Amino acid sequence: MRGIHARFAAAIALAIAAFSTPAQAENHEPRWSFAIHGGAGTIARENMSAEAEAEYRASLQRALDAGSKILAEGGNAIDAIEAAILLMEDDSRFNAGRGAVYTWEGGHELDASIMDGRNRDAGAVAGVTNIRNPILLARKVMTDSPHVMLAGQGAETFASEQGLEMVPGEYFDTDSRREALERMKARQLSAIDVDIKFGTVGAVALDTNGNMAAGTSTGGMTGKRWGRIGDAPIIGAGTYADNRSCAVSATGWGEYFIRVGVAHEICTRLRMAQKVEDEDVAAAMEAVARAEERDVIYISGQLPEDEVQWAADSVMAEVKALGGDGGVIVVTPDGHALYSFNTAGMYRGRATSEGVNEVAIYGDE
Ligand code: ASP
Repeated sequence: MRGIHARFAAAIALAIAAFSTPAQAENHEPRWSFAIHGGAGTIARENMSAEAEAEYRASLQRALDAGSKILAEGGNAIDAIEAAILLMEDDSRFNAGRGAVYTWEGGHELDASIMDGRNRDAGAVAGVTNIRNPILLARKVMTDSPHVMLAGQGAETFASEQGLEMVPGEYFDTDSRREALERMKARQLSAIDVDIKFGTVGAVALDTNGNMAAGTSTGGMTGKRWGRIGDAPIIGAGTYADNRSCAVSATGWGEYFIRVGVAHEICTRLRMAQKVEDEDVAAAMEAVARAEERDVIYISGQLPEDEVQWAADSVMAEVKALGGDGGVIVVTPDGHALYSFNTAGMYRGRATSEGVNEVAIYGDE
C-alpha cells in the first residue's frame, strides 16, 4: 500500500479545516454513475429456471433504468437511489418491502437506511412492521427529524405523523419466504442454509453535480429473533456515502458487516489512498478563501478503478476471514461503479454516463 506523503497530508488538513463542493468538479464533463444490488448469495445457474432468471434480470433493469434516467436528466443522487429502491421494495422477488423474509414468530421486521454524501446527513429505521416503503421513512428521518435512527413503534408513530403509507403485516407475505421459515424450523437449519440468497436491495449514485448517495433496504435474515437488527440500517456498516470518497451499499450476513464496519471502511480506505494534485490543492484553498461560514469544501483526489476494486475486495476479504459472506456496490467521485462479493452470485446492475449499462446475476458474468 502507498504511504501517506506530504501532499496528501496537506490535503487532509485542508479538508478538515474547511470542507465540500468538489473543487475540481468544474474541470470535468458532468458525469454520473449508478449501481444497484438485489442481494448476494449461493445463486447458481443450476438452481434457477430460465423464466425466473429472465424475471430477475427484467426487475433489475427496471430499477437500474429508473435511477439512471434521473441522473441522466441532471437529477439528484438521493432521488435516483430512492427511485430504484422503491421499485425493488415493491417487487416480491427481493427481501425488502413486499417479499421480506419472516421472523421466527412469523412476522416481518424491516430495516432501511439512506445517506447523502454532500453533508453526510443520514436516516435509518429498524424493525418497522407496517411501513410499505421503509426507504421513504429512512429519508424522512434524515430530512424531517433531528435524529439519524428510529426503531420499532416510535418509528411507526413518526411514519404516520409524516403521512407515509401504512399496510397490514400480511402485505409483506409471500409463499416462498414462508416456506423458507418452515424449512428452517423443521430441519433446524440456520438462516444461511435457507436464505440461499440474501435478497436485500440497495443503490449507490454519483450525480452530475458531483454528489453521491447510498441506500439499503431489507427484511433481514429468515428466522431472526429478539429484535435482531442487521447491517442494512446501520450507517457505516450496510450504507455509507461521503462526497470525498465513495458511496457503498451492502448485502450479506449482517453481523459480520457490522463488525467490520464495511461501508465506512471502504470509503475510508479510498479517502486515504487518493492522489491529490497540486492544482487541486490550490483550487481548494481558493474555495476556502471564498467560503461562507457553513460552506463545506473538500479536495477530491483521483483513484484508478483497480485501486477502488482493491479497496472493496480487501474489505470483503476481511468479512470472509471472520466467517461472513455477501457483497457491496460502490461508486466513486471519479465515476467508477463496481461490485465486490465473495458469494457465488449477486443480483446487480450498473450504468454510467460513459455508456455502461448492464445487469448481472452470476459470479462469472
Ligand atoms: N444484510 C442483511 C441483514 O443482515 C441481510 C441481507 O443482505 O439480505 O439483515
